[in-house]
Amino acid sequence: MANRREFLKSASFMTLGALAASKMSAANGMNGVDGISAATAQAPKAGSNLGFQAYSLGGELLNNPADALKKMKSYGFDQVELAFYGFDDSKGHGQFSSFGGGAPTSAADFKKMADDAGIKIVSSHMTPNLQRGAKYDKSTETQILDFWKKILPDHKMFGVEYIVQPSLPTINNLEDAQNVAEIFNKVGELLRQNGIKFGYHNHSNEFNKVIPGGEAVTPYYQRGFRRPGDNSPEPKTIEEVFIEGTDKQNVLFELDCYWTVMGQQDPIVWINKYKDRIQLLHIKDFIVIGASGAMNFENIFSNFYANGHRNWFVEIEDINSGKQLERAEASAKYLLGKGFVKS
Ligand code: MG
Repeated sequence: MANRREFLKSASFMTLGALAASKMSAANGMNGVDGISAATAQAPKAGSNLGFQAYSLGGELLNNPADALKKMKSYGFDQVELAFYGFDDSKGHGQFSSFGGGAPTSAADFKKMADDAGIKIVSSHMTPNLQRGAKYDKSTETQILDFWKKILPDHKMFGVEYIVQPSLPTINNLEDAQNVAEIFNKVGELLRQNGIKFGYHNHSNEFNKVIPGGEAVTPYYQRGFRRPGDNSPEPKTIEEVFIEGTDKQNVLFELDCYWTVMGQQDPIVWINKYKDRIQLLHIKDFIVIGASGAMNFENIFSNFYANGHRNWFVEIEDINSGKQLERAEASAKYLLGKGFVKS
């Protein structure tokens, strides 16, 4: 791979002059939320397919979900991908825990609040809890599948189209990654039989390369270096092992564009290499969508739409800021003011 500077210069996810633009924004002290100026903010268009990841709002969602969901709708958001849902074994159903010690919201109450707000629950992020460091293999397979069976009834009640695993299991080598793919296939089959699509969401570590034989993932291989005489094939990334090792009818992929860039990869390359597998996106910037000027969302959206896909979710980090709702509003104004977001 080219070094980082060359990569950043050539990558198609970058806007022209992105770095210069972001420096100018900082120097000019732009008004508005986190660099989105009032002048560029426009009123939302009605009926856009605008989604958000519930994680983005943190306590601002969990401490008053009914109010937060209504506010999100007023900003133009139509659909949500859930986070913070957890199954309570003592109660036999799921709930959304509260930040700050308030009472949790039951799954059924949350669904009603979303319906009342006019927000459709399209997707949900869920990861099985395994003992720390436990791997996906024959010894944990039953536990993993039992977890998915347990959370299915609530998710049918939500009416989700997708459930997406956002966390990378423990992987040290190619065999570990292949074992995860094998179990993902079984999870996807289980969910498919229940009318729900199973997906996997990446961060940056999925772009590490894995080699066979029990060795850990090594920076040596990441850089493409070889010992003299080493003619072994180029190792694959974990993401490739997952995509190529799973059945397309069982497992789809949600590409987090920001984390893909953090993995020194170009989202456009991945969106187009795996046109039929990458069916969901996380639209994410450093904080507010569009504010850094560094992510070429126009290219990302146009290529994604061209592949026939439609569902994507805004994600905003720094969830303890106390400013997540206003950041979500600024993100919606940016996206809905752009011609490249389809209504
Ligand atoms: Mg994400």
